[in-house]
Amino acid sequence: MTTEPLTETGRQSHTFKAEVQQVLYILAHSLYTDREIFLRELISNASDAINRVQFEMLTNREVRDPDLEPQITIEVNKEARTLSISDTGIGMTADEMVEHLGTIAQSAARAFVKQAGEGAKQTASEIIGQFGVGFYSVFMVADKVTVVSQSYRPDAPAAMWESSGGDSFTVGPATRERRGTTITLHLKEDATEFADPWRIEQIVRRHSNYVAFPIMLDGRQI
Ligand code: ADP
Ligand code: MG
Repeated sequence: MTTEPLTETGRQSHTFKAEVQQVLYILAHSLYTDREIFLRELISNASDAINRVQFEMLTNREVRDPDLEPQITIEVNKEARTLSISDTGIGMTADEMVEHLGTIAQSAARAFVKQAGEGAKQTASEIIGQFGVGFYSVFMVADKVTVVSQSYRPDAPAAMWESSGGDSFTVGPATRERRGTTITLHLKEDATEFADPWRIEQIVRRHSNYVAFPIMLDGRQI
């Protein structure tokens, strides 16, 4: 990964590892069926993040917002064509964003590219589940993704990550009061269905029925 100098806004531009670029290209251009599973991946990450902060609180007193209720919140906006998912989990620092949202295990990426290149014998869901491209599956349905996060570490400033896929992403400072992460998807023109609350509720019931934490959609628990 190469790192460019700071821009005026304090945002730093990074290049995805070559393996990630390949995976992103395939996700954005070749997988059209079963795209709804991106939401399962995001909810699973949100749930993991809440589990991790709860574990941290068992042993560590220096956790930001210890009274924050565990919760996953989804909001959609049809006019703006956006979907956002927030959690009250462990959060990420800017460095953690670069590390966790910029790389992928090379072996997994290679296997993914090979499998997907052999034609659609498997669905996106199977391929993604198998190779753990988790977060990157958002690029099946979004042409821009913004992540804003506040780490559980009391002294860590909030940070943002943004990418339109392709070969690069930026990371920089952000404002966020409470601990946790919000991921905003700017949906592709052919993915407007994912800004429909009814459709989102259907997907959550289908793929995320056993999540241990409350999932809110536009103000009500689903
Ligand atoms: P996996 O979940 O298998 O580790 P993902 O691609 O789904 O792979 O996510 C990559 C990493 O990004 C996670 O391991 C985690 O460190 C970080 N991450 C993703 N989403 C969140 C979130 N909502 N809160 C905190 N960290 C996250
Ligand atoms: Mg995951």
